[in-house]
Amino acid sequence: MTTQTPVVVFAGRPEQREAYERDLRAAAGEAGLGMTLVMDPAEADPAAADYLILAPSGPVTDFTPYTRLKAILNLWAGVEQALALPLPPGVPLVRMVEEGLTLGMLDYVTGHVMRHHLDLDRYVGNTTALPWEANAPPLAAERKVTLLGLGALGGICASRLAGLGFQVHGWSRTARYVEGVTCHHGADGLIAALDGASILVLLLPQTPQTVGIVGASALSRLAPGAAVINAGRGPLIDDDALLAALDRGDLGHATLDVFDVEPLPVEHPFWTHPNVTVTPHIASITRSGTASRALVSQIARGEAGQPFLHVVERDRGY
Ligand code: NDP
Repeated sequence: MTTQTPVVVFAGRPEQREAYERDLRAAAGEAGLGMTLVMDPAEADPAAADYLILAPSGPVTDFTPYTRLKAILNLWAGVEQALALPLPPGVPLVRMVEEGLTLGMLDYVTGHVMRHHLDLDRYVGNTTALPWEANAPPLAAERKVTLLGLGALGGICASRLAGLGFQVHGWSRTARYVEGVTCHHGADGLIAALDGASILVLLLPQTPQTVGIVGASALSRLAPGAAVINAGRGPLIDDDALLAALDRGDLGHATLDVFDVEPLPVEHPFWTHPNVTVTPHIASITRSGTASRALVSQIARGEAGQPFLHVVERDRGY
C-alpha cells in the first residue's frame, strides 16, 4: 500500500521562495513529515494541492482550480487582505502565529513603551543644555498602560509589561485572563481600559468593528500627554482626530507602524509631525525559520485528523 504525502503549494511572494523552500524542508524533516512541496504555483497541479501557503500579495488570487484544499495557511497574522480575496468557502483559513513574529512584537512594544515611559526623546541625542531639573519619570508601577487586543500578540505583550511592573490593562472582544493584567471586554470595558491610560498600545485586527475605534472620543479618555503606539492596523485610528489631539497637546506622541495606505505617502503629515514616529510596518515580521515550523505543525495536525489551530472565523473578520 502506498501512502500519499500531502501536496503543499507555496503561494508566497517569489523572492521568499528560496528561504521558505529551505526552511519548510528542514522543518518537515525535523517533524518526520513527508510532503510534496511545490514552490511556484505556476508549476503546480492546483487540483492535486492539499495545502496552500498564502501571501495575500502573492501570485494566487484565483482559487477555483484548487478544488481539494484541506486548508489555506496565511503567512501573515493579519487576515483582512486574505479575507478580501475570493477564498473557497468551507476551506479553513489559518492565520500565522509563530514564535519569531511573537518575539519581534514583544521587543517592539516593550522598546517603544519604555521610550515613552522614560521620556527618552528628551535626553537621547539632545544638542542643547537642558534645565537641570530633577523631574524623574514616574515608576512603572505608577503608569497605566493599556493594550487594545489581548490575542496571540497583545496577550503576551501585556504579560511582559505587567512583568516590568506597569499597571497593565487589556481589552478584548470576549473575556480573557492574563496574569497580572486587569482585563476588560466589550463596549463598557473599553471605557475602563482607556480612562487615564498614559500609554495606549493597539494590537487589534482590522475588522468592521475595530475600524476607527481610536477616534476623538477614545483619545479624550487618555491621560494628558499620553502616547499611542499602533502596531495593529492603520484604520484602527482616525488620523485626523489623532493629529488634532497631538496639535492641541492633549496627546504627547504617536508611534505608528501601520497606516491606511502603505507605504505611507510622502506628503502625509505623519512624516513631518514632530510628535509622530513612523516605522515602516516593521513592528514584527513572519520569519521563515520559525514560521516554517508553525506551518509544518499545522500540516501535521491536518494529516493526523486533528483540528487546525488559529482558524479564522470569517464572519467576525479575524
Ligand atoms: P489575535 O486574533 O490573536 O487577537 C486579536 C485580539 O483582538 C483578541 O484579543 C480579540 O478579542 C481582540 N478583538 C478583535 N475584535 C475585537 C473587538 N471588536 N473588540 C474588542 N476586541 C477585539 O491577533 P494577533 O494578536 O495575532 O494579531 C493582532 C493584529 O496585529 C493582527 O490582526 C495584525 O493586524 C497585527 N499585526 C501587526 C504586525 C506589524 O508588524 N505591525 C505584525 C503582526 C500582526 P478576543 O480575544 O475576544 O478574540
